[in-house]
Amino acid sequence: MGGRMLIFMQLKTQLYIDGKWVNGASTLPVTDPSDDSVIANVQVSSDKDCADAVDAAARAFKSWSKTAPRVRGEVLRKAFEIMVAEADRLAEIVSKENGKVLTDAKGEILYAAEFFRWFSEEAVRINGEFRSSPSGDKRILVTKQPIGVSLLITPWNFPAAMATRKIGPALAAGCTVILKPAGETPLTAIAIVEILERAGVPAGVVNLILPTPTGPAIAKILKDPRVVNLSFTGSTEVGRVLLKEAADRVIRCSMELGGNAPFLVLSDANVDEAVSGALLAKMRNGGAACTAANRFYVAKELAEDFTSKLAAAMSQLKMAPGTSTGAQLGASVSVKERNKIAELVDSSVSAGAVVKTGGKTPDGTGAFYPATVLTVKNDNPILAQEIFGPVAPIVITSSDEEAIELANATEFGLIAYVYSGDLKRAIKVAEALESGMVAINKGVISDPAAQFGGFKQSGLGREGGFAGIEEFLETKYIGVEI
Ligand code: NAD
Repeated sequence: MGGRMLIFMQLKTQLYIDGKWVNGASTLPVTDPSDDSVIANVQVSSDKDCADAVDAAARAFKSWSKTAPRVRGEVLRKAFEIMVAEADRLAEIVSKENGKVLTDAKGEILYAAEFFRWFSEEAVRINGEFRSSPSGDKRILVTKQPIGVSLLITPWNFPAAMATRKIGPALAAGCTVILKPAGETPLTAIAIVEILERAGVPAGVVNLILPTPTGPAIAKILKDPRVVNLSFTGSTEVGRVLLKEAADRVIRCSMELGGNAPFLVLSDANVDEAVSGALLAKMRNGGAACTAANRFYVAKELAEDFTSKLAAAMSQLKMAPGTSTGAQLGASVSVKERNKIAELVDSSVSAGAVVKTGGKTPDGTGAFYPATVLTVKNDNPILAQEIFGPVAPIVITSSDEEAIELANATEFGLIAYVYSGDLKRAIKVAEALESGMVAINKGVISDPAAQFGGFKQSGLGREGGFAGIEEFLETKYIGVEI
C-alpha cells in the first residue's frame, strides 16, 4: 500500500475531550476537492460533547494556569519539534482536505510549527511591573495572569497555522482551550491536537469539538460563564455575528477577519521584482488567503509591462490536484467556493473587465479555477469583494495619491503591498495606507515573530509577535501599602 493511502487510513477522526478521543453524535464527510472523493468521515459533536469540553477545560485550567511557564513552554517546544519532523505527513493532510498544492501545504506546516516555537519562548517572558506611586504612599504591582477558558474558532484556508497561532499563545499564557476547526478541514486540526497530546499536554488543556450546525452550538458555549475569551479567524460576516453574541457576557474577543489587500506598484518600481512579488502575494494558497493581494493599482508608466508579464507568468502555472507532482495551482476548497470565484469574474467582465488570461471554469470534476488576470476600471465591482481565488484585477493609476485613495476605499484594512525603487517614498505611502500590515518590496511578510492583524473591519487585536500572548492574559494591578 502506498505511503499516501496509509497516512489517510491511520488518521484519527474523533473528537478530543478531556484527554480522550471520543465519538460524537454523527459523522461528517471530509472531501478531497480536487476530485470530490470522500477521504474520511469525522465525528460531529453533540451539545453534550461541547458541554463536556467546557467542563474539561475549566477543570484543567486550575492546574495548567499554575504549571510553571518553563514547563508549558517545553510542551510547546516538543510539539514544534514533532511538527517539523512530521512536516511531510502533515502537508499531505492539509493538501488533501484543503486542495492547496503540496509546496504551499508544507510551507504552511513549517510556518504553523513556528508559532509553537515562538510561544514556547514567550511563555517564560510574561512581564509585569513593580514601582512606587508618584505620591510615595504605596507600591504599584502589575501582574499578568491567564484569562481562562478560551474558545478558538479557525477557518479552512490555513487549517494548521490558524490553529497553532491561537493554541500556541493560549497554552504559553496558561489558558486552556476548546478548538473548533472548519468543517471542511478538520483532519489537520485533529493531527495537530494529536501531536500536542504526544508532546505531553495534560488532559483537558486542549479540547477539540466539531458541532454541526455550528452557529447554535457556539452560541450556547458563549453563554457558559466559564468561557471568558473568544479568538476567531474567519470572515467579517461571521465575526460580526460572534461579536454580538459575545457582547451578552462581555467576553474578550480577538478577531482576525477578512481582507481586501491592495498591491501598489509605484512608477519607479522594478517591474520584474513587482511581478515576482505579485505572484507570491496573489497565488500563495491559490489566492485563498486573507493576505492575498486582491486589487492591483499600477502606475500608468508601468501598467502595460506589468500586466503582460503577470499574465504570462500566471498563464504558465500548472493547475492540477494539490498532491500531484509539479502542481502549482490546486483546487479551491469546494465546488461551492470555486463557483463563487467564477461568479465574481463573470460579473466583473459584465461590468467591463478585460480578461488577459484565464477567466473560464474548466470542464470536469474538481474545484479548479485557472489563474486569471483582468484589467478593470476603478469602479469595477470585483474590487469591493474578497475574491479568495487566483484572480488578479489590475487598475491603472496616475499618482501615488490616487493609488492611496483607491487602496483605502474599503471597509477592510488587513494588509497592503507597496513596490517602489525609493524606500523613502514607499514608507510615506505605507504610512498613509489604512492597513494593519504593509509589505514593502516583498510578496509575503507573515512571521510568527511579528504582529498580525488588521485595521477597520479586518479585525480586533493582534496575533503573533509580542502582542499575541496578550490576547490570553489579564492585567492585574495590586496596590501595596508601604
Ligand atoms: P467563515 O467565517 O465562514 O468560517 C470560519 C469559522 O467559523 C469556521 O470554523 C466556521 O465553521 C465557523 N463558523 C461559521 N459560522 C459560524 C457561527 N455562526 N458561529 C460560530 N462559528 C461559525 O470563514 P472561512 O470561509 O472558513 O474562511 C475564510 C475567511 O477567513 C475569509 O474571509 C478570510 O479572509 C478569513 N481569514 C482571515 C484571517 C486573518 O488572520 N485575518 C486568516 C485566514 C482567513
